[in-house]
Order: sequence, then C-alpha cells, then structure tokens
Amino acid sequence: MTAGAATVPTVDDVRAEVRAWLEGHWDPERPLVEWRGLLVDSGWACPSWPAEWYGRGLPAAMDAVVADELTSIGAVGTPTGAGMGLAGPTILAHGSDELRGRMLRPILTGETTWCQLFSEPGSGSDLAGLTTRADRDGDEWTVNGQKVWNTSAHHADLGVLVARTNWDAPKHRGITYFVLPMRQAGVEVRPLRQMNGYSSFNEVFLTDVRVPADNVVGEVDGGWAVALATLALERRGFAAPRAVRPVSGAPGRTVREAQAEADEYMKTYVWYPQRAGRADLVVERARATGRSGDPVVRQKIAALLSMQRVAQWTAQRALAARKLGRPPGPEGSLSKLSASNIARAAAGVHTLVSGPSATLAGADSPMAGIITEVLVSVPAVSIAGGTDEVQRNIIGEQVLGLPKEPQVDRDIPFRDVPKNTGREGRRP
Ligand SMILES: Cc1cc2nc3c(=O)[nH]c(=O)nc-3n(C[C@H](O)[C@H](O)[C@H](O)COP(=O)(O)OP(=O)(O)OC[C@H]3O[C@@H](n4cnc5c(N)ncnc54)[C@H](O)[C@@H]3O)c2cc1C
Repeated sequence: MTAGAATVPTVDDVRAEVRAWLEGHWDPERPLVEWRGLLVDSGWACPSWPAEWYGRGLPAAMDAVVADELTSIGAVGTPTGAGMGLAGPTILAHGSDELRGRMLRPILTGETTWCQLFSEPGSGSDLAGLTTRADRDGDEWTVNGQKVWNTSAHHADLGVLVARTNWDAPKHRGITYFVLPMRQAGVEVRPLRQMNGYSSFNEVFLTDVRVPADNVVGEVDGGWAVALATLALERRGFAAPRAVRPVSGAPGRTVREAQAEADEYMKTYVWYPQRAGRADLVVERARATGRSGDPVVRQKIAALLSMQRVAQWTAQRALAARKLGRPPGPEGSLSKLSASNIARAAAGVHTLVSGPSATLAGADSPMAGIITEVLVSVPAVSIAGGTDEVQRNIIGEQVLGLPKEPQVDRDIPFRDVPKNTGREGRRP
C-alpha cells in the first residue's frame, strides 16, 4: 500500500503496515516529543490528514484502526486538548500553507498547548455579536477586549481567537479568526471559581495585544465560517479524538512523560465524569440506600438507563455512517442535547435516591462527596459548547426544516446594532 494511492487500502493492509513501522520505530525509552516527531513524520499520527500535512490521506475510519495498533503495543499517540481537538483541524482546513507549516507539527507533538477565546461577557449564544476588536497596524493586529469561560487559558501557549475587524459590515461578516500568542504583555488570565469548587475556566483580558498578520486563519472579515468549523468540532465532542492515551503502568520514559502530560491536562477535567451525571452509579446507590425496591425509584432508573442506551445506539449509528463516508447527519445535533438530558435526569435520580444527604460534601458523605459534585456540576452540560435552547433552534431549523427564528440585527452594519451590556469594547 502506498500513501495517496488511488485504491483505498483495506483495514488489514493498514494494520500490517503500521505494525511493521512500529516494530522498527517504537522504543519506550525515547523522549516523548522525539517519539511523537517520528510518528508525525511517518504519517501515522493522524492517518486521515492529507499526505502533505503529516497524514496519509486515508479514510477517517483508519484513525481508529491505527490507534488500536498503537495501544496494543503500549505506544502513545498525539496529545489530548484544544490543540488537537479544535485548533489543528481548523487550521488544517482553513489556514494558509505558511500557518499550517508553523502551527500543525507542534500541535501534533504536544509542544504547544491551546485554548479557545470565543465567548465574551455579552456574547455567548450570540457569538456573532462579539465586540473584542482587532485593528490592523502594519504587519500586525492590535487586539483589545475581554473573553470569558476560557478552559485551560491559564496554561495555554496559543489561543484561537475571534475578534471584530469591520464595524460597518453586518455582524457575521466583520469577524476575523486569529491565532493569538498567549504569553505576551497585555494578556491577563484570571481564573474563575465554579460552584463545585474547581477552577477550570478563566476570564481573559486583552489590552493592546499584538498578533502577527500571518496569524489570520482564513480571510480577514471571513472568520465566521472558520469559527463555525471550530464550533462544529466542539459540538461533536472534538469529533476525532486522535489521542492515544498512555497505557497505565506501561514501562518506559515515553509513557511516563505522556502520563505526566495527561495527568496535568486532566486536572482541569477531574469533575467532568460528575458533570455527565454518573448514571453508572444509580443502581449501586439505590441498592446501598435500600431504595431499589421502591416502584417510583425503579421507574426513574429504568427511564434514565433507557435514555442512555438510546443515546449510545444513536452515537453508534452516527459512527457507522461516518465509517461509510456519509456526511454528518442529524445524530450529531441530537447527541449534545441528549447528553444534557441524560445528565439532568441522572442528577434527578441521585437526588431521589439519596434524599437530603445528596447535598452533603466531604469524606463521610454519600460516595465521599461524588453525589453532591454531580448535582452542582451537571448544569454545565446544558451550557458548554452551545446551550440546550440554542441546540434546539439548530435542530428545529437545520434538521426539521422549521422557519428560522426572527433576527432583526442580521443585515445591518454592526455599529448600528443596539447593545445593552455596557461592557463591549470601544466602537470606532
Ligand atoms: C463548562 C463550560 C466550558 C466552556 N468552555 C469555553 C471555552 O473554552 N471557550 C469559550 O470561548 N467559551 C466557553 N464556554 C462558554 C459557552 O460557550 C457559553 O457559556 C455558551 O455559549 C452560552 O453563552 P452565555 O453564557 O453568554 O449565555 P447566553 O447566551 O447569555 O444565554 C443565556 C440564556 O438565554 C438563552 N438563549 C440565548 N439565545 C437564545 C436563543 N436565540 N433562543 C433561545 N434561547 C436563547 C440561553 O439558552 C441561556 O439559557 C464554556 C461554558 C461552560 C459552561
């Protein structure tokens, strides 16, 4: 099999070829970045990417096949995070060759970490109403404004940023998409404290921040289309998780370094299992509290687990369609909404089963505080990556073909759009 050949190789061809390559190259004592460099240059780090950009031009389904092979010998792959999940695929699809050349390899090797600088205090669901501004100044842009809810911004090297570059165009047509270097004067990252006690998000204040003109992704004023590509990746749950996690306890320097990297990264997300509702714990809790014979509790548990099973089947249907090369269907739009319905239903069942003790925290509380953590973490699912209401609008309009919701500010110059936040950046 030759990379880029017209005939599509079979799964067995791919397995054989990657296995042979791994036999010749996997050495568990290599420094992590050096190992990933080899993997990236071989095209096996992300086989579905084009051959000219570190891939092999294989069908998307082959990513999982190759990941299996890496896992089976205890080798590690590309890192997890906004770099691989959001920035990399967006730059691959919309960036200039120069930007791809500069940005993609360090994303794949894990040498750069990334965050997403989209939401603002007055622009979350209405992202196109953003008022962080970028003004051209020679061969750079100067950025001023405020972003919020930025996961991992406190340790990111780079951010994908959307900012307003044209105030005379309608709101969707005056936005530009940038790669912003985070480690510079004028970028102030302030952690936020959540009601579950963790601190995973930040406010990011941008004051006269400099961005090279070559860091524009796509066209100046054409950033909305690029932002939609990033949002689509986010809503599909970072559609292609190419990271191959280190096999816990496997020997060698490469795995040790990958494990340390993953542990550091996961600090931000330790509460995410609870955010998903922990439906896996409801039966155990019902038995432990003696509520498993209660007909109401049994009904609620059955309804919850049925919802979860249906969502799994829908996800499997979407995966099967992707493997057959079909375009994304309605399943993708439904999955985010069903995740938040399931999380909320699970929190409801936990409350019913545990009663008032569900509100207790600390080592001697139910499951050492996990149930409380579920209750105060679940609301995040209905907001992150687009709220439930906005998701319903998308399903209504794009899947069911219902009329679009009225929008009075879509076609007028952005500077004439009334705003009531009082917090937007200076208008020119
Ligand atoms: C866990 C988490 C992680 C996040 N991570 C990031 C990140 O890394 N980077 C980043 O940039 N942002 C991030 N966000 C921000 C997130 O994208 C926004 O919070 C979200 O888009 C909602 O925006 P908002 O908070 O401004 O709410 P608003 O948009 O002000 O919404 C308020 C309420 O109005 C409703 N509403 C708004 N518009 C409509 C409409 N047209 N029709 C019906 N109802 C409507 C909403 O559904 C909601 O109930 C994160 C948020 C969370 C909770």
